[in-house]
Amino acid sequence: MNHFEYRHGRLHAEDVDLESLARAEGTPAYVYSTATLTRHFQVFDRALEGLDHLVCFALKANSNQAVIATLGRLGAGADVVSGGEMVRALAAGIPPDRIVFSGVGKSQMEMDAAIAARIFQINVESAEELELLSQAAVGRKAVADIVLRVNPDVDAKTHEKISTGKGENKFGIAIDRIAEVANIACDLPGIRLRGLALHIGSQLTDLAPLEQAFGKVIALIKELRAQGHELDRLDLGGGLGIPYRGETPPLPDAYGAMVRRLTQGLEVKLICEPGRLIAGNAGILLSRVLYVKQGSSRQFLVLDAAMNDLIRPAMYDSWHDICAVSPRGGEGSHEVYDVVGPVCESSDIFAKARSLSPLDAGDLVAIMSAGAYGAVMASTYNTRALVPEILVNGADYAVIRPRESIESLIARDQIPPWLKS
Ligand SMILES: *Cc1c(COP(=O)(O)O)cnc(C)c1O
Repeated sequence: MNHFEYRHGRLHAEDVDLESLARAEGTPAYVYSTATLTRHFQVFDRALEGLDHLVCFALKANSNQAVIATLGRLGAGADVVSGGEMVRALAAGIPPDRIVFSGVGKSQMEMDAAIAARIFQINVESAEELELLSQAAVGRKAVADIVLRVNPDVDAKTHEKISTGKGENKFGIAIDRIAEVANIACDLPGIRLRGLALHIGSQLTDLAPLEQAFGKVIALIKELRAQGHELDRLDLGGGLGIPYRGETPPLPDAYGAMVRRLTQGLEVKLICEPGRLIAGNAGILLSRVLYVKQGSSRQFLVLDAAMNDLIRPAMYDSWHDICAVSPRGGEGSHEVYDVVGPVCESSDIFAKARSLSPLDAGDLVAIMSAGAYGAVMASTYNTRALVPEILVNGADYAVIRPRESIESLIARDQIPPWLKS
């Protein structure tokens, strides 16, 4: 469920009319809904009610400070995958004891910063990482609480570019090496092994691969305990899918019930890292039609938004619903368009042969489900300035990242001395 709805024939974000918003703030622009972010977080959190758990929003899905702060106030922690994201989480007011740090390539500087900040947990993805982490901790007279990220070798049955739990993926430690790495960890003075973690992929629309992977890791926790390791944490990762195109991903309640069943009597603190589930359908990319161009065999809707603003269709072949903000022509009237952006790449396509309400140059469209892996993946390709992000809250809205100017974008380049004279 989200809070983007038609009222009197116009698409609104909560109580904000998107036509007025676009006039005031320009396009393209990302628009997020506070009520939707809140609802998604709370529905997920409540699905785990009664279990000792911490929901850490995966910042890489949407790391705007205002989005993080919105979720932080509801009790969310943060799952970060870089030192930069850790700084963002702290700056937005997430307490260190609600931050977990994952990632296959943490640099020495990043580890040191994580130790210095006394974050809740570091998710270690290789034996090689352990030694450096221990040194960093000892250097700061600290002991790092870690979990080992297991690669359970399970097919998440999702797009290959967002699959992370197969043996061939770079993520985690092979399941049959975990016992050995756990022993290495226990011999290191700066490390306290607390448990195991996994994250098998994103946009999962079926609980079965998750259940299979959780089962494997839970069995492993029991094995390690039998060998004398005192483990009290299980990090289940993220990955729950959302409906982009009428999919019916598992509801948080079904996920919660499965987790409850599997972890019965296990006595661990659970950490969950949802990203897309919280933010995906809480945001849209608002864009204006520049041209309706007649091609030789098809009709192109050329938008002012492009692949640099939202790369998911080009990168993952993903589907986004596209809605006319003020549909015309009455029920059932439609035209078929290829919806494209202005960037000089053939892959700059949001949708092919899409049936939409008839549109003219100057009309607004909303590219739906763009709240996760949207703005965070934007680039300035073709020297297109980063677009603004706007957060709606009831009838209020605020620009939470202003539109970048072309001048400031260019000003970051520097001319070397030999080109100056
Ligand atoms: C990306 C990622 C997540 C979030 O994935 P979603 O599919 O957005 O829920 C969680 N944990 C880790 C380690 C990740 O890399």
